[in-house]
Amino acid sequence: MAKAIALLSGGLDSTLAILLLRKQGIDVTAVTFLTHFGCDISDSSSCSKDVSDTAVKFGFEVKLCHLADKFISIVKNPKYGHGKNMNPCIDCRILMLKEAKELMQMTGADFIATGEVLGQRPMSQRRETFPLIDREAGLEGYVLRPLSAKLLKPTIPEIKGIVKREELCGFSGRSRKPQMALAKKFGLTDYPSPAGGCLLTDPIYSYKLKELLMHNPDPSIKDLNLLRVGRHFRLPGGHKAVVGRNREENMSIEALAEKGDYLMKVEGVGSPLTLISKDATEEDLLSAASLCARYSDAKHLPEVKVTVYAEGKQFTLNVKPADDSMLESLRIQRKD
Ligand code: SF4
Repeated sequence: MAKAIALLSGGLDSTLAILLLRKQGIDVTAVTFLTHFGCDISDSSSCSKDVSDTAVKFGFEVKLCHLADKFISIVKNPKYGHGKNMNPCIDCRILMLKEAKELMQMTGADFIATGEVLGQRPMSQRRETFPLIDREAGLEGYVLRPLSAKLLKPTIPEIKGIVKREELCGFSGRSRKPQMALAKKFGLTDYPSPAGGCLLTDPIYSYKLKELLMHNPDPSIKDLNLLRVGRHFRLPGGHKAVVGRNREENMSIEALAEKGDYLMKVEGVGSPLTLISKDATEEDLLSAASLCARYSDAKHLPEVKVTVYAEGKQFTLNVKPADDSMLESLRIQRKD
């Protein structure tokens, strides 16, 4: 039986590409690549559930593979540049295909399939970009794109007759209507919205990431994960304060704090949890406390007592809540 490795994002297109191959009796192993910038499919999110339910229903296996530092390095320095935001889409596709190639070789699969659609995305899904990506990944002729195959040069599995080209599709462009009609034919009803997962396409997130890399070219996983939560401020001494916006974010911030980091809040009133790293200067600790006070229910008081916790110890700082100009000057945000 012919075997394929398929890239599975969890979205509609990559799922349909797999279903088209399954319909031809091809044995598919799907691989979902995880990064620090996407929907974490390994947790109990709906994203994860949809993928595993679909895999069970349509009879294919899903493997998870974390790209970790390899992905961070292409985000920092992509050979083919970033897209509109911090998304290094061409390098990302090359990296994913290179990893999939290893799996293909290990498992004796015949080819690789992706859910890419010609012309759907401006950077990585163009007619001239597909061959470049395949070449860079060392996979010329071995990457089948079932949703647009009829519009592309036949691949080796099609030429060999392993895959029936006439049963593949000729979709192009940004409209999702043909995919939705095909999903209906397959009885596929639960699928996430397109590109819902990659934070690197989000302008607000991308701005915060760029700012982080400017101050710290080698950020820790904690630094990257913190970008997903809270209000972010760059303090006069160069440290960063992260201020929770709600209870859920306060809990995330607490969970992300490392040994020695300072956590602060105003006791006895509604207060955000505020985090500043363990090496913070006294000046930055005071600024972070002012920010914490400003977002607490004690913000109207002339002076607020902020409790600081670090390594099982605690102390208090008496500060004036930050005013609007302090917020404006310290907040990490796009100015346009
Ligand atoms: S949007 Fe994100 S995950 Fe998708 S190709 Fe671009 S960088 Fe990769």
